[in-house]
Amino acid sequence: MIHKVLIANRGEIAVRIIRSCREMGIKTVAIYSTADRHAMHVRMADQSVCVGPPESAESYLNVPSILSAIEITDADSVHPGYGFLAENPAFAEICENYGVKFIGPSSEAIRRMGDKVEARRAVQKVKVPVVPGSDAAVTEEDEGLKISKEIGFPVIIKAAAGGGGRGMKIVHSPASFINAFLTAQSEALSAFGVPDVYIEKYFEQSRHVEVQIMGDRFGNVVHLGDRDCSVQRRHQKLIEEAPAPFIPARTRNRLWKAAVDAAAAVNYNNVGTIEFLYVPDGEFYFLEMNTRIQVEHPVSEAVTGVDIVREQFRIADGKKLRFEQKDIHLRGHAIECRINAEDPESFVPSPGTIRSCLFPGGFGVRVDTAIYPGYTVPPTYDSLLGKLIVHGEDRNEAIMRMRRALDELQIEGVKTTTDFHKKMMSNTDFTEGRLWTSFLAKART
Ligand code: ADP
Repeated sequence: MIHKVLIANRGEIAVRIIRSCREMGIKTVAIYSTADRHAMHVRMADQSVCVGPPESAESYLNVPSILSAIEITDADSVHPGYGFLAENPAFAEICENYGVKFIGPSSEAIRRMGDKVEARRAVQKVKVPVVPGSDAAVTEEDEGLKISKEIGFPVIIKAAAGGGGRGMKIVHSPASFINAFLTAQSEALSAFGVPDVYIEKYFEQSRHVEVQIMGDRFGNVVHLGDRDCSVQRRHQKLIEEAPAPFIPARTRNRLWKAAVDAAAAVNYNNVGTIEFLYVPDGEFYFLEMNTRIQVEHPVSEAVTGVDIVREQFRIADGKKLRFEQKDIHLRGHAIECRINAEDPESFVPSPGTIRSCLFPGGFGVRVDTAIYPGYTVPPTYDSLLGKLIVHGEDRNEAIMRMRRALDELQIEGVKTTTDFHKKMMSNTDFTEGRLWTSFLAKART
């Protein structure tokens, strides 16, 4: 039984995890860097331990320091949240060896799905369609060019170990291929420690559609429906919604089945996300799997009524899934806007002190945040201030509710992306569902 968890994270997700733990009677240990001494997650946890200076590498990624924190607080488990150590198989393995429960899948599953080439291969075995591209990592530029000509330009060169929207290069013609390929290899090596890259066909007009899944140690896998995360900037998600709008029922059923099959193919246990590209002719292709809780999980919680973090703990504790697929009922429509401390036009980060903040409330509104008046947003970490999530009977109601919630939201002291979201909620391409991932790069909102 899990009694005490150390949360190896910060910000809104650490707060989110603490909330579920409180309700489950699990004690919590926060870790923090010296920059986060006054952070909300530190105040909310039962105990807290400083693990190092501001730089992530020396604090939130500092495994020896985190292991000491586990030892001195006698925590029996670790929740990694998202980012930081969440998809680091070595860390999960160390926890397994120390007898500390890692609230996530096995280190083996993380390793396997973390290598995108390996992941493509694993899901292809169970007939899940993958984005047309190379079957293996490509090491030689000539070979890469040959493959690209076969699949047809434009192509996208990706780091096998990539993540977070980094390590991708779009190439429009054979003439610029070799240069891009060599740059991609060296960038992959410096960013992820592995030079392996692979090639996919680049779909200019595509949507990012993903399926939330949940699996236990007994081979049961269910899905919690899908999400659309096509509103992105530089491959980073800004708005997410559930369900993905304007998808024919038959296609949606195939998508769900593909996601469950992909998870089952790797004996996946815990919660995870299978990401797909959905292209206008109605086809979808596997992109990658994320072996952790996602930023956008609340939209799935809103439409299913399932507390996904709570289920993570139950599964890690060795329990059977509480649900069969027939017990999962999808209701209404949910939208999430990521409120970042950034200029709403240029997206340049805007760290600083929150002079005041007033959050929206009322029917169907949820705010997940870790800011409070007087809190200083450090420049060291990502700029996510919080997430505004609304739930309505249908997409139109959710959009109207989001407009009203954004109008109520007030944050003073730092620039925020609130105005960007206000424009998006009235943008006819968004409201009518013309949602390509390249949308922001092309459109003026
Ligand atoms: P990461 O692991 O860095 O998030 P993904 O493979 O999930 O990388 O891709 C991130 C985003 O990049 C996708 O949501 C999509 O917008 C875009 N993308 C990735 N591959 C393709 C592709 N083959 N064609 C078009 N867009 C793509």
